[in-house]
Amino acid sequence: MTFTATNPATEEIISEYPALDSAGIDNALVRAHGAFLKWRSASVAERAASMTRAAEILESEIPVVAELMTREMGKTFAAAKGEAMKCAATMRYFAEHGESMLLSENLPTKGSRSGLRYEPIGAIFAVMPWNFPLWQVVRMAVPTIIAGNVVVFKHASNVPGSALYLEDLFVRAGFAPGILTTVFAAVEQVPAIIADPRIVAVTLTGSERAGRSIAAEAGKNLKKCVLELGGSDPFVIASSADMEHTVAMAVTARIQNNGQACIAAKRFIVVHERADEFIEKYAAAMGAVQLGDPMDPSTELGPLVSSAQRELLATQVSSSIERGAKVLVGGVVPERTGYYYPATVLTDVPEDSRASCEELFGPVSVVLEARDLADAIRIGNDTPWGLGASIWAQDDGEIDEAIAGLEVGTVFANAMVASMNELPFGGTKFSGFGRELSALGAREFTNVKSYFVA
Ligand code: NAP
Repeated sequence: MTFTATNPATEEIISEYPALDSAGIDNALVRAHGAFLKWRSASVAERAASMTRAAEILESEIPVVAELMTREMGKTFAAAKGEAMKCAATMRYFAEHGESMLLSENLPTKGSRSGLRYEPIGAIFAVMPWNFPLWQVVRMAVPTIIAGNVVVFKHASNVPGSALYLEDLFVRAGFAPGILTTVFAAVEQVPAIIADPRIVAVTLTGSERAGRSIAAEAGKNLKKCVLELGGSDPFVIASSADMEHTVAMAVTARIQNNGQACIAAKRFIVVHERADEFIEKYAAAMGAVQLGDPMDPSTELGPLVSSAQRELLATQVSSSIERGAKVLVGGVVPERTGYYYPATVLTDVPEDSRASCEELFGPVSVVLEARDLADAIRIGNDTPWGLGASIWAQDDGEIDEAIAGLEVGTVFANAMVASMNELPFGGTKFSGFGRELSALGAREFTNVKSYFVA
């Protein structure tokens, strides 16, 4: 098994690394465990100093690392630069706020003193996806490392350069080797890593299928597990929506990251009285999306990550068409080199078709019509997932009804769903459990130790 990066725009292999054997994985775990024994006693201020240095170095290298990400997985160069800047901002945010998030708390009881402390627990194993090669690791690792843990991560096998870049960045910033370690492990080696006594907890950002497997291994070994899985986020358009703004944001929410974001809007649910207007304007805007070379500044939509991912998406669309779905825009694989798929809009999608029931990890939108807002919320919740949702309305009553009614981890109103340092990020239902970012993310892998002095 190899970790192989293939440029999705050219279909050329750009780098290849063999997976580690068990001795190589053992070395990484020895290093991580040794690093933890020292790192856990460092003050949050010391941890923050290295994190700030990592941010400074990353900020000075943005075009270089952005080009690496674009070449490894096809996101547009502009999006890759944005991702790298966001990573640096998160490093700075947790360097600045980590101390207050992890402060011990006094909790008055009948004792003379009592309260709680947030204590690091050890080496956390993270299995990561390719879609945001830097951000997914940073979002998990930065708050976790600030809390005094160390992180061993198995990145997706198609982004080895991004994995190596991150490990090297942390060492150059002054973190001891072993505080952030990448292991080129095959999927088959994951259970042994989870079982290893030097690993105390595990997290995955990825598919439901991988989530079930990792949760089972964590359960067998009685280890804490955090899962950030997929979704089919509803984008709900209420009667009071500002249609120009809503349509522009609907396009961005669907095609961001070439349509390959867990929190990309996937189902567009519009109330009957605004449906014709939305569908006409949205189809026109999606039809105008510029598909092309991700390094070209005029490109809005680059290729999908792989030939397999494109084939899956094309099959999800074609089988739904066979069952009666209508294609307003797109839906045809272009004849060119690269794993391109156009911005696509489907209507009249049967409830039992693949486009309705499965996550569409690419620029394909399913537009659904609802009787009213209550019906739109019902349709929005009619899915096994519960990651994010957005509501588009100018009326506060409609906004509050959607915030309360949608069964998801995050609701945004009049803005597309995004991860932010200040807000906990995570899902409910089959989108997973646990939270990243914010104080909850910094505390997720800590032992919340209560104390009581009589
Ligand atoms: P994936 O196939 O689950 O891969 C993600 C990671 O898990 C990779 O490192 C992969 O390794 C590994 N993996 C795959 N099967 C595994 C198994 N059975 N046991 C252990 N590890 C396994 O997911 P993907 O298709 O690359 O990523 C897209 C999915 O991730 C979508 O469903 C998306 O919604 C979800 N996602 C969720 C979030 C979130 O925050 N909630 C964020 C981004 C993406 P290899 O690369 O070696 O196969």
